[in-house]
Amino acid sequence: MKHCSWCDNEFKTDISYQIYCSATCRDAATKEKIAARYVYARRQKRKGKDRKCKQCDNKLSIYNDDNLCIECNINPSEVSKVLKQIKGKAK
Ligand SMILES: [Zn+2]
Ligand SMILES: [Zn+2]
Repeated sequence: MKHCSWCDNEFKTDISYQIYCSATCRDAATKEKIAARYVYARRQKRKGKDRKCKQCDNKLSIYNDDNLCIECNINPSEVSKVLKQIKGKAK
């Protein structure tokens, strides 16, 4: 028995290099890898560039995908929207 590298389900296989239980898991893992590579490449591009917050002129981190710094990015209506979504899911 093997454990799927994506969902951790146990599965049986005769193929020694198979690490996912299904095509769905393999696709999901592949998509994530591609997304991670894309995010990484985008961050690398930002290196050495001066990006500043639209609102307060703070320097933006290369990990920040927005035009606002962390302090300016917290929008109260946005926060309550997210909280509502979380509560909705909990039901
Ligand atoms: Zn799986
Ligand atoms: Zn700011």
